[in-house]
Amino acid sequence: MKEWDEKAFVGGHPVLDFINTVEDVDKSRTISRIARWPEFCAWANASTMFNSEQLNGLKDLAKQTDTSVILQRLHRLRELQYQALARIAAGEGGQEAELTELEVAIRQALQRSHLQAAEAGYLWQPDLNHEDWVSDLLLLSLEHLLRSGQLARLKQCGRCSWLFLNKGRGKGRRWCDMSTCGNRAKLESFRNKEH
Ligand SMILES: [Zn+2]
Repeated sequence: MKEWDEKAFVGGHPVLDFINTVEDVDKSRTISRIARWPEFCAWANASTMFNSEQLNGLKDLAKQTDTSVILQRLHRLRELQYQALARIAAGEGGQEAELTELEVAIRQALQRSHLQAAEAGYLWQPDLNHEDWVSDLLLLSLEHLLRSGQLARLKQCGRCSWLFLNKGRGKGRRWCDMSTCGNRAKLESFRNKEH
């Protein structure tokens, strides 16, 4: 199992880092880094999305339920979130099918959640007694991003499928990470010039 280091958290928002848990170098999104439950838990530990109570809740889930079912749901949710946000990043926003499905799911997640005081204001927290609380947490995080006023800065890497908030000025960042996709893209254009 590979380590989750800071290179896996370049999205600028926890839900983007969740969407970026694939390691394909192109847009195919077939190589998941959270294919197994321990891998997902390791990601959750490294992410800022889960509080300590929720991290403990993940351990309990493995004892109580079939985590492969939860993982299947999480993968489906991840791809739905990716499709909706990739469209927004490409400037094709609006109420598309993916966003409509997510809106229904967000509404259900909110119904099961409560507000909890946090440093930067109140946060929605899922009901840990509900079987879908992990999905709920990921939906609440998406809801936070959708309303955060940062969406205009949402971009997709010019090479892979990772999404990130471009926090620089102007057009800024084109790659999820200069040291991976950025360098590979530079090498490719260099090689193309040689021929
Ligand atoms: Zn990339």
